[in-house]
Amino acid sequence: MSDTIITMADGSKWKPSTSSDTVHCVNCDNAVDTPEEIATYPTGNCPDCGESWTGKERRRTSITVAAAEAISGEA
Ligand SMILES: [Zn+2]
Repeated sequence: MSDTIITMADGSKWKPSTSSDTVHCVNCDNAVDTPEEIATYPTGNCPDCGESWTGKERRRTSITVAAAEAISGEA
């Protein structure tokens, strides 16, 4: 993990925690969201129904940002 800090326009500083991928299977509607399962996409099969990925899955990447951290404050 790197200590990347995001500085917002208003000067507040944020620390990104994790980003996660979610793939929704078109065959069984299984939401694949663990890194191990995501690794099977798009060349493998759905870990739930065993059908091969069709390429029509809905894929979403979301980044979760942790709470603001007081790095510098205005005295
Ligand atoms: Zn499936």
